[in-house]
Amino acid sequence: MNTAKGIAQCPVKVMAGRDRGKTGKVLEVMPKTSRALVEGVNYVKKHAKRTQQDQQGGIITKESPISLARLMLVCKACNKATRVGIIKLADGTRSRSCKNCNEIIS
Ligand SMILES: [Zn+2]
Repeated sequence: MNTAKGIAQCPVKVMAGRDRGKTGKVLEVMPKTSRALVEGVNYVKKHAKRTQQDQQGGIITKESPISLARLMLVCKACNKATRVGIIKLADGTRSRSCKNCNEIIS
């Protein structure tokens, strides 16, 4: 998917892997590794060491980045995971649109 830069804060659906079918908001995009951190997706357990800030330590669960190839943008208009097309608007600017319902995705 070549929309990596634009998907921050957008809802996405996981299309493959352990969390297939889950939806969540993109919290952070990591273009260098083609991964994104998605809210509620790809939780992993981590063993945290006891530190001065965290007296408890122990096991914490945390989202871990998931490959962008496994994600699809969820269109706000038709509420479906969709492919995204690029369309040219009347004023010459390019925008992304939902290939399903042709709504413009901001
Ligand atoms: Zn749509």
